[in-house]
Amino acid sequence: MLRLSELKLPLDHAPEALREAILARLGIGDTELLDWTIARRAHDARRRSAILMVYSVDVTLADEAAVLARFAGQPRLRVTPDDRYVPVATAPAGVPRPVVIGAGPCGLFAGLILAQMGFRPIILERGKVVRERTKDTWGLWRRGVLEPESNVQYGEGGAGTFSDGKLYSQIKDPRFLGRKVLTEFVKAGAPPEILTEAHPHIGTFRLVTMVEAMRQTIKDLGGEYRFGTRVEDFEVERGPGGARRLRGLHLHDGSFLEADHVVLAVGHSARDTFARLHARGVHIEAKPFSIGVRIEHPQSWVDEARFGACARHPDLGAAAYSLSHHCTNGRTVYSFCMCPGGRVVAAASEPGRVVTNGMSQYSRAEFNANSGLVVGIEPERDYPGDPLAGIELQRHWESLAFVAGGSNYNAPVQLVGDLLAGRASTALGAVTPSYKPGVTPTDLSACLPDFVMESFREALPAFGRQIARYDHPEATLTGVETRTSSPIRITRGRDFQSLNTQGLFPAGEGAGYAGGILSAGVDGIKIAEAVARAILGEDVVE
Ligand code: FAD
Repeated sequence: MLRLSELKLPLDHAPEALREAILARLGIGDTELLDWTIARRAHDARRRSAILMVYSVDVTLADEAAVLARFAGQPRLRVTPDDRYVPVATAPAGVPRPVVIGAGPCGLFAGLILAQMGFRPIILERGKVVRERTKDTWGLWRRGVLEPESNVQYGEGGAGTFSDGKLYSQIKDPRFLGRKVLTEFVKAGAPPEILTEAHPHIGTFRLVTMVEAMRQTIKDLGGEYRFGTRVEDFEVERGPGGARRLRGLHLHDGSFLEADHVVLAVGHSARDTFARLHARGVHIEAKPFSIGVRIEHPQSWVDEARFGACARHPDLGAAAYSLSHHCTNGRTVYSFCMCPGGRVVAAASEPGRVVTNGMSQYSRAEFNANSGLVVGIEPERDYPGDPLAGIELQRHWESLAFVAGGSNYNAPVQLVGDLLAGRASTALGAVTPSYKPGVTPTDLSACLPDFVMESFREALPAFGRQIARYDHPEATLTGVETRTSSPIRITRGRDFQSLNTQGLFPAGEGAGYAGGILSAGVDGIKIAEAVARAILGEDVVE
């Protein structure tokens, strides 16, 4: 089979036009094309008046060798890569069971791959099963009641469960591990088009049922889940020569679980866990992340700016955007985790703090488009010294946001026009912020650093030149967005184990090795392979 890429057709092409385009590009007759399937479908809307659909197709030809020879050296035709996943190990009988901490995308895939290899993992999750967790999460959104152990960040499915379910990533993936993640998602009930869409997304409702289906698969393979089980501390011993080695885990109920191969997939909000790891001497470094707000516009404005007369075309869906601006103060403002046709959600996990994020349903049919609008910050410049200083910085601004919102989990909001004019907002305008339980018009300078406000003042008009009405005076900014990525890295060596603590396998977003659902799932696969090899005494090299 051969893969032919960059086949471009007009947005409204007839279904048979794709076959004709294949024949024309390859210069072959109808009978020579035995079969074909779409491998990838994207759109190119750089010219709004001539939006194109861009395909990669897998073709089966009567004489593939001859066609390949004719196209030698042309990257748009190559042998279709074999993207099937091959497990790296099989567990012999009686091997010790590995433990996975966290049932987010990283822990879920670590658990699944370990289970598929026969290692019968034990998965410890501080939060609840996803259905119960959903009720608690909505409790904050509907009633302003935060459940500290069951919320948007904690519980089965992890942080991505109440999300837009965007499933793409910029990571290098020579082994097609992302494909394995998507394939497992489809088996668990995701729409099959996520395998071909260039920018797939699932939406929050389906994620809930998929997470349940994957739990059942892991259990059927001999894995075990323990919900409501928080890892409180780590027992580390010194072996011969002084090498540090993990011996087991202290759980919230006072019990001790012996474990010498532990995947640490706790996400970026497990602040108490990071503090314990630091206290136990596990090597942790501060790393850059970003802070800012969620910006909202009517989705129709974004659709029109992006797609012009083709706005709302069924093959295009709700328009997304990605923006970046380098400011004269040396900071970079960029859009983050844009959610077309979605809503801004309360994403706090600690009492007395306000944090924003975004989610949507599969249909992406809600009224507003929202996106993080954030400014990059870095340890050397903004939170030097302590490896955990970034966490304290997050807490500081989240607490001020809580106060600015009215100390009742309402979020502080400011209109773009007011921010640009340097005055507090006192009322809302044409754009109704979607954040629940509610918002309080105010001055965001009360809960964001001056350099962030200054950067927004420069970047918003620049973005308005790229997307019409982006800097509309009545667009809203809801704060604060602080959990963009982990503020720390729990550094691992080439064997995927903590730099200074054998047996501890830091993974996923919290450890600083992923950003987003897909990359967290991919990292879960890699870490499961490393654990399997370590248990079997094989060398592991990244
Ligand atoms: P997490 O998903 O954070 O999972 C960590 C798990 O560990 C949690 O379930 C937690 O309860 C558990 N845990 C923590 N500490 C302990 C402990 N001590 N003991 C036991 N268990 C513990 N990404 C995308 O790619 N696309 C999106 O559309 C998207 N939208 C998002 C929307 C929202 C509202 C949020 C909050 C995030 C979104 N993200 C999105 C980001 C994505 O969710 C994360 O990148 C991803 O979930 C990280 O996966 P993870 O497994 O590393 O960590």
